[in-house]
Amino acid sequence: MSDYRLLIGGELVDGDMTMEVFNPATEDVLAVCPRASEAQLDAAVAAAKTAFPAWSRRPIAERRAMLGQLADALSARADEFARLLTQEQGKPLGESTAEIAYTEAFIRHLSTLNLSTRVLEDGDSRRVELRRRPLGVVGAIIPWNFPVLIVAFKLPLALLAGNTIVVKPAPTTPLTTLKLGELMAKIFPAGVVNIVTDQNDLGARLTSHPDVAKISFTGSTETGRKVMASAAASIKRLTLELGGNDAAIVLPDVDPAKAAPGIFGAAFMNAGQVCLAIKRVYVHDAIYDEMCAALAKLAEQAIVDDGLAQGAQIGPLQNKAQYEKVKAFLEDARANGTIIAGGEVEARSGYFIRPTIVRDISDGTKLVDEEQFGPVLPIIRFSDVEDALARANASPWGLGGSIWSADRERAYDLAGRMESGTVWINKHLDFGPNIPFGGAKQSGLGVEFAEEGLAEFTQIHVINEAK
Ligand code: NAD
Repeated sequence: MSDYRLLIGGELVDGDMTMEVFNPATEDVLAVCPRASEAQLDAAVAAAKTAFPAWSRRPIAERRAMLGQLADALSARADEFARLLTQEQGKPLGESTAEIAYTEAFIRHLSTLNLSTRVLEDGDSRRVELRRRPLGVVGAIIPWNFPVLIVAFKLPLALLAGNTIVVKPAPTTPLTTLKLGELMAKIFPAGVVNIVTDQNDLGARLTSHPDVAKISFTGSTETGRKVMASAAASIKRLTLELGGNDAAIVLPDVDPAKAAPGIFGAAFMNAGQVCLAIKRVYVHDAIYDEMCAALAKLAEQAIVDDGLAQGAQIGPLQNKAQYEKVKAFLEDARANGTIIAGGEVEARSGYFIRPTIVRDISDGTKLVDEEQFGPVLPIIRFSDVEDALARANASPWGLGGSIWSADRERAYDLAGRMESGTVWINKHLDFGPNIPFGGAKQSGLGVEFAEEGLAEFTQIHVINEAK
């Protein structure tokens, strides 16, 4: 008997099928959990559609208060959620604890936002108001790297704006999302929130469903393209948060010993499985050897272990498919660069790969041009910063990027010319619910967080009165 249930129409229910979820640190079965059928997905969408009229008419203050209750309920069980997150996702317990704390903070902040009516004109001949209306049923599709936090990127804003929602976690990390469903079943009216799980087989049905008004998707660019195509038939609203290949450009005025820990942390958090991780580092010739050595030292010192083990800094890759994918990047690194730290898988069960630093590698290789989404970092030498910027911008992706320099004016100039949604100066991977977040080019469409993110869960609605 499974400890997990789907949430459909206010009821916690078994799936029509079951599936196994594995602990990536041991490769053992962690839990057997429900797997929804197509009929259950349809029932979830129908329940959300039925719940929409009453939910959208409730005063926003009531919707906000329920989101506050969700944050309180999560906070009360934070330790339990963090532990389960490490077991299903693999990240060290400290990172899981931070993910749950961030989730709570995102829910709390996002639920304070407002949908205000603006009077655009109030003259002799007409009065024009700009209002915002909810869209209807939102489909939220979640990846496996931050299975709890990414729910909190979408659900609070969708519900606050008056929409109802069907959430679909990734097949390899459904457990924490289902546990969130248990909390939400006690707080929200029936049908307002629904959670269904799958084996990568229900996403397309959700994105093409005629009763779904909007899809908020986070995942790979490859799947994002399919989502966009499938949403076309009913002109669904879309937010796509997709892959990235973030470049860090390190100028010669930087002290490698000081900058290396920040670069290392932003590249290897969650074993490199972060959309906004540093995925390639361009370092000026004058400090190249020193920076490579400093990063290699940090990689050698890093403790790679089961995320529940005391002191673990880097856990396993989340799933076998990703582990195999990252091993192919290691092969490329061996063929096209010089591995100066790591380069091996760990001789134990679990999907462990040592943090790997690769030097003497350049653009035009798989490791530099593609998204590795794992703990293998290429360090590329440059002598002309304009050339480094051109190479950073040559990517089809544009999620984030960073400039590292002691010269503030120079850093701002380069940052202003970086083709990405976010550019950091002397740091990387810093974000918050009050800062709009979205990708340029093939890293995405639309934005999340802040008022701009809330607006994406609404339709503009103009009321124009004759006077
Ligand atoms: P993925 O694209 O394989 O899967 C993401 C989700 O889409 C899963 O829930 C999956 O079941 C679902 N899905 C699969 N096929 C589908 C289809 N045809 N239609 C609709 N949904 C479908 O991505 P992943 O491997 O889980 O996540 C890693 C990727 O996500 C990386 O590329 C990473 O950069 C990206 N990512 C982006 C952000 C961001 O905010 N930009 C955040 C986290 C991860």
